[in-house]
Amino acid sequence: MDHFNYVDGWLHAEDVPLTRIAEAVGTPVYVYSAATLTRHFKLFQQALDWTDHLVCFAVKSNSNLAVLKLLGDLGAGMDIVSGGEYARARAAGVPGERIVFSGVGKLESEMRLALTGGIRQFNVESEPELELLSRVAHSMGLRAPIAIRVNPDVDAKTHEKIATGKSENKFGIPIARAHEVYARAARLPGIEVVGIDMHIGSQLTDLDPFRQAYAKMADLTRALRADGHDIRRLDMGGGLGIPYRRDNSAPPLPLEYGQVIRDAVGDLGCEIEIEPGRNISGNGGILLSSVVYLKEGEGRDFLILDAAMNDLIRPAMYGAHHDIVPVREAALGAEVGRFDVVGPVCETGDTFAKGVDLPGLAPGDLVAFRSAGAYGAVMASEYNSRPLVPEVLVQGDHFAVIRARPTLEEMLGRDTIPEWL
Ligand SMILES: *Cc1c(COP(=O)(O)O)cnc(C)c1O
Repeated sequence: MDHFNYVDGWLHAEDVPLTRIAEAVGTPVYVYSAATLTRHFKLFQQALDWTDHLVCFAVKSNSNLAVLKLLGDLGAGMDIVSGGEYARARAAGVPGERIVFSGVGKLESEMRLALTGGIRQFNVESEPELELLSRVAHSMGLRAPIAIRVNPDVDAKTHEKIATGKSENKFGIPIARAHEVYARAARLPGIEVVGIDMHIGSQLTDLDPFRQAYAKMADLTRALRADGHDIRRLDMGGGLGIPYRRDNSAPPLPLEYGQVIRDAVGDLGCEIEIEPGRNISGNGGILLSSVVYLKEGEGRDFLILDAAMNDLIRPAMYGAHHDIVPVREAALGAEVGRFDVVGPVCETGDTFAKGVDLPGLAPGDLVAFRSAGAYGAVMASEYNSRPLVPEVLVQGDHFAVIRARPTLEEMLGRDTIPEWL
């Protein structure tokens, strides 16, 4: 469910017509709905209200400061994967005690940044990382709170580029080695073991892989406790999928997901952390774009937009589907065209969708890509020297630009020509 609906034939974000945003800010532009972000966050809170918990928003899915502030003010923790994301979470007012630090390649400088500013826990992904973190924390007179990310070797049944829980993936330590690695961790002077972490992939549309992984998590908790470790937190990761197609059977709801967690680990008395990204931000945003040209090709027509793969790379990168809809609702009986929807970038990969039926569009008309709030703006680039796509946040009947489109001057100003040229 989201708050992007037609009112009197025009697509709105909450109570704001998208035409108003296009006029004020220009296109392409990402538009987020505060009500939708809030609603999805609260669904996860409710799904875990049977226990002590922290819902850590995966910052990498949408890292705009305004989005982080909105969620942080609702009580969200943050799951971060870089020093930059740490800085963003803190700048948005989220205290260190609500930030968990994930990622396979943490740098010493990033560890120092988090330890200095305060951190809830590091999710450690390898033994070399564990050793380095211990050295860094010890040198600062601290013990770093850690969970070790364990790879449960389950098939998440999702796109191969976003599956992370199989033994061939680069993430975490093999579950068979957990006993040994936890023993090592317990002996390190700069480390305090607090829990276990798992994250098996993204856009999971079936609860079974979660069930399998979390059963292993429960067994491991008991085994590590028997070894003498004080396992008091379980980080269950993120990954719950969202409906990208309106006509599809929808993925399970946060409430059902919360029940899977409860069934698997509810009796262990641990504090529960989860790290949803896409499920909070995905349907909270759309990408708004204008039609530039209708072009007739051989056997197919092209709808050429002012948005391109540099603004939304998911279709080019993962073959991902986004519903593309006209901002002006089609009149009944309007002529329908069938289009390959493309951007202006000089790559054939700059194709958003093929053979899409869209009614009565003309140059200048607006279209919206639905479900674009996650892994959209954060992956945008300035390829082809197209200014970085701006972002807008809507709440009720008002909106604000939360990232402005850079001017050409600002873009060029980032480069320097050395004096010896
Ligand atoms: C990407 C990621 C998430 C969020 O995944 P979603 O599918 O967006 O929920 C959570 N935890 C970790 C460690 C991640 O890498």
